Amino acid sequence: MFTSIINCPACNQGQIVIQPYMLLQGQAFSCPLCAAKLALHHESKPQLGKGLDAFDKLRVQLSQKADQNASTRHE
Ligand SMILES: [Zn+2]
Repeated sequence: MFTSIINCPACNQGQIVIQPYMLLQGQAFSCPLCAAKLALHHESKPQLGKGLDAFDKLRVQLSQKADQNASTRHE
């Protein structure tokens, strides 16, 4: 199973290793630096704060291109 590394939308410093397929299935992944949880569940969104927009774009990207590394950053 492939993985992707994304910049943490909460602290913009940590790199979160995710498995896009698992993320789409509801699996949560944690930032190693700030421990923010990256997940598609609504309950995790408040923790992401201002990263919500970036995360939302990421989610769309993952939905459309789950087989590519998502290393993009949208500020
Ligand atoms: Zn972080």
